[in-house]
Amino acid sequence: MCSVDPDEVVEMSRIADTIDLSSGNVLCRKCDTERAVVVLRLKDVYCKMCFLSYFVHKFRSTIGKSKQIRPGDHVLIATSGGPSSMAMLHLVRDGLNETSHKKLRFQPAFLYIDESCLSHSLENGPDLVQKICFQVAALKFPCYFISLEKVMSLKFPIPTLYKDDSKTSSVTTELKEDLKKLLSSCKSETAQQDLLLQLRQEIYYQCAKALGYQKIFLGDNATTLSISILANVALGRGSQLADRVHFKTKYKDVEVFRPLREILLNEITYYNNLNNISTLQIPTLRLKGKSITACTEDFVMGLQKEFPATIPTIFRTGDKLISTLSDTSKCSTPDLNGRANGDTSYHLCALCGLNLDTIQSDSSAVNATLVSQNLSAMDLSGNEKSDVTFHKTDLISTNISDNSSNTEKSSVSACCKTNSEACGSEKKSSCCQNDKRDFGDNHRAEVSKETVQRYLCYGCRIIVREMSEVGHLPIKVRNCVNEQERHERMREQIKDFLI
Ligand SMILES: [Zn+2]
Ligand SMILES: [Zn+2]
Repeated sequence: MCSVDPDEVVEMSRIADTIDLSSGNVLCRKCDTERAVVVLRLKDVYCKMCFLSYFVHKFRSTIGKSKQIRPGDHVLIATSGGPSSMAMLHLVRDGLNETSHKKLRFQPAFLYIDESCLSHSLENGPDLVQKICFQVAALKFPCYFISLEKVMSLKFPIPTLYKDDSKTSSVTTELKEDLKKLLSSCKSETAQQDLLLQLRQEIYYQCAKALGYQKIFLGDNATTLSISILANVALGRGSQLADRVHFKTKYKDVEVFRPLREILLNEITYYNNLNNISTLQIPTLRLKGKSITACTEDFVMGLQKEFPATIPTIFRTGDKLISTLSDTSKCSTPDLNGRANGDTSYHLCALCGLNLDTIQSDSSAVNATLVSQNLSAMDLSGNEKSDVTFHKTDLISTNISDNSSNTEKSSVSACCKTNSEACGSEKKSSCCQNDKRDFGDNHRAEVSKETVQRYLCYGCRIIVREMSEVGHLPIKVRNCVNEQERHERMREQIKDFLI
């Protein structure tokens, strides 16, 4: 019988006294015979066997009841060496080895993203890749690894399959510097952390595509998802909640699953301890101050200590929130920019790849905010202030001198107006200098901050608004913006001829 209550919203009541198990005399509340070793929700005590069967059941029922994972499916499982992913590794191993009808029947492969390029302790990167991949390979699963900075490259490489003699250091100095510049161009730590999340999401997608996987498992648990629900609302990503926290979501054309979403972090810690599963501290971006996400985490965890229903309440509420934008292609009316709504390629944010929530009617909340921002950016005479974030002359060119850049800019805009080829396509017009820059090793796609913002969702606009240089954005993002901009110009030119 399934014990996962889909509507587990309970009254928030304070629990001051927790049960002390140190005496060894407390019996399990389920079997009432074995000594309790685990306390959940401050008062529910379980013995080892009862807890483990409860934990495994939660994991399997989350996968099973969805009926989305079919026998033989190839699934790429993200692993970081942290508590959730190490627990998932063992749960998957046990599930595949099961002999009963509950046996898991998909084909897993694991993927580790090495984020040590953002950490000061660079020398730990290859060691950690070695340690984590070794643990996965020891269970006879294929394990791929790739460095985070590869997200900055134009041509995404195929992740490396770990073998015993694999060279685990794959840091590319130039890309690493590009990534550092990108993150440091964000003024606030909140934007840095949010941007890192978008990059991580993109690299999972790129790896899945490069390896031919259509399904990804992420290690998000109920605790991290509850924090994420509140933090995303605070970050202006409320309309994307369903895409970021539900069990099954779609990122571009890859399906993303969160099989640990019903399990709390402290339950995962108990599971790892009882099974002697070791976890690792992953080198990644360490923030000096407090980001919105870090403050939200403190708030939720502080509340959870005294009110054990905090996380389930946030979590279940988040489950019920679905954006009305989740399927904008169903709209029959043209959007603000006159785009045909049946064309879904224009409804994805160029940075995070989720639904574009900024193309709504004049009376929407997002447009009210944008009008307010634009008005605030004007001085009394109605002109834009020189330091406003929507600065039209904020064109960047990292490798081209200012003079040549200006000359080329005019020629580019002239030629691109008639060029119907997309930036991302392989066929390039010989007249288009901008295309040449996009594909040259030492050149960068030129794009203005104002143009970039036009093709971003509200949350990503907040990141970009405070960036000192949008030229640090991954070249794929800038190419995507250029491509959409060209389509937009073309659409504008031919709109009178469209029926
Ligand atoms: Zn028991
Ligand atoms: Zn976005």
